[in-house]
Amino acid sequence: MRPDVPRLATVHSLLSAWARCQQIDVRRYRASGNRGTLLDRDFSLGQGARWLADRVLDGWLPPSLIVDHHSHVPLFSRLMLAPEAMAWRNRLMTGGCARDPSAGSIRRLNQVESATLRRCPTCVALDQLRYGHAHWRLHHQWPVARHCAEHGDALETCCSRCKSPFTRHGAPHLADDPCPLCGGVRGEAKAWAAPPGYWPMLREMFRLLQLGLCESDEIPFAMPVRGWTPRGIGAMIERKGLPAPVHQTLSAWRVDSLPKLANQLGENWVWFNSHETSAHRHQWPPLVSLAIRVSGIVASNEDSTETWRPAGAPVPAAKPGAGRLAA
Ligand SMILES: [Zn+2]
Ligand SMILES: [Zn+2]
Repeated sequence: MRPDVPRLATVHSLLSAWARCQQIDVRRYRASGNRGTLLDRDFSLGQGARWLADRVLDGWLPPSLIVDHHSHVPLFSRLMLAPEAMAWRNRLMTGGCARDPSAGSIRRLNQVESATLRRCPTCVALDQLRYGHAHWRLHHQWPVARHCAEHGDALETCCSRCKSPFTRHGAPHLADDPCPLCGGVRGEAKAWAAPPGYWPMLREMFRLLQLGLCESDEIPFAMPVRGWTPRGIGAMIERKGLPAPVHQTLSAWRVDSLPKLANQLGENWVWFNSHETSAHRHQWPPLVSLAIRVSGIVASNEDSTETWRPAGAPVPAAKPGAGRLAA
């Protein structure tokens, strides 16, 4: 039997469903000298998609679906220049290059997924009705995400009975499995007051994650603040004078510095360290760049930040049908 897996389920989730249906032994795929299992490997940026398709999934899913529907590649592809994005996807399809340079540079700048797992109670309930079990989803695992971008629910992060966080481990593990420590089935979400910049950013990331690689969306991500590189911004932090779009973004996120914004987004603040002089500081880290752009769109459509609502503020670029939050 081949499991039915929704789009945006993580590779970890689809491999868990596959392991349960096919009853494959995930320990069989460990590399020599490595005690981890297939599920300890990180597939979040599409690494090994070709190998998974050919050697593990037995032709059930092609590498293009693994990459386009079950990895964060579509999001990060939209945040890089088109030729680089195409070359990256080609490498993933053909299985070339064991240590992928694009994935490597994204990981240096971003924590792609949070260290613990999160789930949306509405997604879990809908999955149970549709598939008989529930999947972990890509957009719940972003470090910045505290809510489901589709349903608006606060994400559950731990067992409500014993408070142990949901974690990844080497055994097949689906989003509605009972807590491995106490057997509890209820999850708990932490209350959090979202700053005005949060919802437009979350919705835009969710939209980009679902865009096809060929869908045109001309965005100058590489240079969100005209004439400014992160290196220049780093110098301005020390002089306390920031360009208007950066200042506006920091207010929207209720933080007083770019390193704090980067931290909220799961990006590495070392980007803004003015003592760091390597060439990468001439480019903007992708999610900070996106946050500045999103704040600019929101600000140009609103008179003041006071009118922003957490869950109802429209993002002009959002597609209709991106969930009821977009309505
Ligand atoms: Zn949901
Ligand atoms: Zn528990």
